[in-house]
Amino acid sequence: MKNKLMHLSNETMNVGFVKKVEALSGTSVRRCFQCGKCSAGCPMTGFMEHPPNRVVRLLQLGQGARVLAGRSIWYCASCETCTTRCPNKVNLAAIMDALRKLSWDADGPSKESYVQLANRLFIENIRTYGRQYELRLGAAFNMKSGQFLKDLMLGPKLLSRGKMKLFHQKNKNLPEIEAIFNRIEEMRKKGEAL
Ligand code: SF4
Ligand code: SF4
Repeated sequence: MKNKLMHLSNETMNVGFVKKVEALSGTSVRRCFQCGKCSAGCPMTGFMEHPPNRVVRLLQLGQGARVLAGRSIWYCASCETCTTRCPNKVNLAAIMDALRKLSWDADGPSKESYVQLANRLFIENIRTYGRQYELRLGAAFNMKSGQFLKDLMLGPKLLSRGKMKLFHQKNKNLPEIEAIFNRIEEMRKKGEAL
């Protein structure tokens, strides 16, 4: 998609999407003057087809669909280096959060859907067990992604070195953790959280 010529017109520019990103992130993409300092400091830029400054440029041009179709938002580690380095106070880390939320809510067109699946299973595990249960996470990921044998040989090694447990106990503070999830859901409904 990134190599295709970009035709800009009222039909191809989705300004409504950009406004949503700006509202959710509390930052204006129009402030960006493309100095590139964000991308120069981003530790994940090598994995992204659109480095952070280009993500902002695409948003400025109303090309949100291009951003969501790529992997950049899912490789962002939320380290906030970009935000810290930006001379124009563009909160790019918040923009990345907003883009992930919009992709997540829409069940995302991202080709990095495995990242999305892993994120979803990770959160589900925390909600069910009150902590991470790696064996279940790995098994569920392999089943749901259809990669049944993925990293299978790593399992015995991790088990023998005590890095992964066969059985898992639920966190005794599970009700409190559930309350946190419920509170976040309430805040999201009111638009107070991403
Ligand atoms: S550092 Fe800020 S102004 Fe510079 S390209 Fe990145 S977002 Fe734009
Ligand atoms: S928050 Fe994301 S985009 Fe920004 S520097 Fe860190 S990894 Fe890169």
